[in-house]
Amino acid sequence: MTLEVVLFPCLSDNYGFLLHDSETGATAAIDTPDAKVIAKQCEARGWALTEIWNTHWHPDHAGGNVALKRRYHCLVRGPEQAAIPARDITHSGGDSFEFAGHSVNVIHTPGHTDEHIIYHIPSAEIAFVGDTIFALGCGRLFEGTPEQMWSSLSRIADMPEATKLYCAHEYTLSNAKFAVSVDDKNPDLLAAIEDAKAKRAAGIPTVPTTVGVEKRANPFITAGSAAELGRRRALKDNF
Ligand code: ZN
Ligand code: FE
Repeated sequence: MTLEVVLFPCLSDNYGFLLHDSETGATAAIDTPDAKVIAKQCEARGWALTEIWNTHWHPDHAGGNVALKRRYHCLVRGPEQAAIPARDITHSGGDSFEFAGHSVNVIHTPGHTDEHIIYHIPSAEIAFVGDTIFALGCGRLFEGTPEQMWSSLSRIADMPEATKLYCAHEYTLSNAKFAVSVDDKNPDLLAAIEDAKAKRAAGIPTVPTTVGVEKRANPFITAGSAAELGRRRALKDNF
């Protein structure tokens, strides 16, 4: 009943994720940035992909769906947006489903895209958050408003603090530069930055982060309101 998460770099700065249960053999890929790399990671462990869970339609998240489905005949879950290739099951916020005896809750987190969803597994204290939240950052508002992103980040901040957040990109050190520019006296932010620097210097991913750390250090949560989030997001877009 213990779920294992494997993460590995894909493309220039994405992470691919495999979620595996050794008892049942169930294996999910969360997003499909690179079908070849994901298949190789499965093969190296003798795992066969049983599911794909997409967070949103962007090609660096759903671009490997077709090739992986052809190879593994796996079930593809994704949000309602039309551009999710090979999707079998459409999810919207409030849905939940079972994976290897664990309930997975689907939460709608619009902002980066309209139909962005995240996958929260409370029993394992993990969430796959796509491009909604990053360590010390948040996704760009391509399709949504600051109000939507504020409510999406609030949903994440409401999870138990120990929840591990598997963000889809390694952006932490560049996020850190912006974060100190708007919140330079926040000791929790400064501590998170030191931790991220040490990890990167040792070649270790800064993902996953946790709800507790982000609640206190992430400038888009400490913004405290949708209006201030919007102001900070616009500043960061030109930083
Ligand atoms: Zn994206
Ligand atoms: Fe992305």
